[in-house]
Formats: sequence, structure tokens, C-alpha cells
Amino acid sequence: MRIILLGTPGGGKGTQAKLICDHLSIPHISTGDIFRTKIKEGSPEGKEISEYMQKGQLVPDRLTISLVEERLKKDDCQKGFLLDGFPRDENQAKALDLILKKKEEHIDFVFLIDVPKEIIVDRILGRRVCPKCGESYHIKYNPPKIEGKCDVCGTALIHRADDQEDIILDRLTIYSQTTAPILDFYQEKGILHKIQGDGSIQDIFSQISEIVDANK
Ligand SMILES: [Zn+2]
Repeated sequence: MRIILLGTPGGGKGTQAKLICDHLSIPHISTGDIFRTKIKEGSPEGKEISEYMQKGQLVPDRLTISLVEERLKKDDCQKGFLLDGFPRDENQAKALDLILKKKEEHIDFVFLIDVPKEIIVDRILGRRVCPKCGESYHIKYNPPKIEGKCDVCGTALIHRADDQEDIILDRLTIYSQTTAPILDFYQEKGILHKIQGDGSIQDIFSQISEIVDANK
């Protein structure tokens, strides 16, 4: 089963990705992970990627697409995969189509986890992270045992500078502008499923698993 998972930043996409992959025993392929692995390996591609990231720029399509293609050739992708963070725009969606066509494969489902703006803002504004170990918390939904301190390592938690309302709203606008054409693209193919993302983790996962299980 080949799946693309789309969803607004801060909308709980990562958690759902993990649940779906466990449920279907397919690999979770995220461009973020691919980039981090390349950087760690210290390959020429990794060096190029880290230069873009340091400048706060997006990794160019040419590189991203070739890395995704390389990843999809691995053995673990034979019975399917879940793509997270890719395709990011229409150009990448078309490139992915070509990659799969070469292998006589196609995407089965595209899930869009649709979370209302107010909920995302609320989730992100309440987010606190540990600068030392990376654990993340939410002041309302997932508070640390001792206020302001990391449960794991005791370090004082921080509110990231870019987790501010105006920055979040800007990010959401940019996201919906670049994603709209992808949604149309998959809607026309009849494989787009919109998932109500304002429920609990389990509610959201049930909507997705019902669809995949009916088509297994
Ligand atoms: Zn910590």
C-alpha cells in the first residue's frame, strides 16, 4: 500500500504517520529523515543539504526528488510505503508520478489531515521544548511533571522564538498556498481523502484505518 500523508504543520501528522506505518508494516519515509541521514553520512549530497538548511532555504527539487527516488528503490519499499513531507508542491507531485510509473506503481491513498487554524495555533503556542534533549511538551495537553522543567533531563523548557501567533499564521498561509495544487492533482485522480483532524489521536487514526482496511 502506497500512501502520501499531508497535513498542516503542527497538526499531528508525525504521530499519525507512525500509527499508520505500524498498522500496515510499511516504512515511514520523510524527507526530513532522508536529509538528516545524508548530513550525518557526510556525503557530498549531505554537505549540499546542510548548506541550504543553514541558510534557511528549501533543499532544491532536483536533489530532493533524486533522494526520494533512491529511497523508494530500497527493498523495504516493495510492499508499500508512507511518504511524509513529500511531495511538497505540484512539481514534486508530478515527479513522483513519473518515478512510480517507471516501476509500474501508483499511489493508493492520499490523506489530508485537516485541522482548523485555531486548533493549530493553540497547539503551537502552548508548545514547550527541551533545548537539551529535544523532548516536547504542551502546557495544557502534555505538561511536564514539574512546571517549566524537562521530565527527562530536568533542563528548563523553552518557548521557541518562531512559535508565535503571527509566524504560525504566515506558515499556515504559505502551506495552504503550495498545497492547494497538490490537492487538486490527487482529487482528480480520485485518491484524496480528507480527514477531520480536530479529534483525538485515536479518532483521527480510526478514520484513516477504516479507509485502508476496507481496501486491503
Ligand atoms: Zn530534556
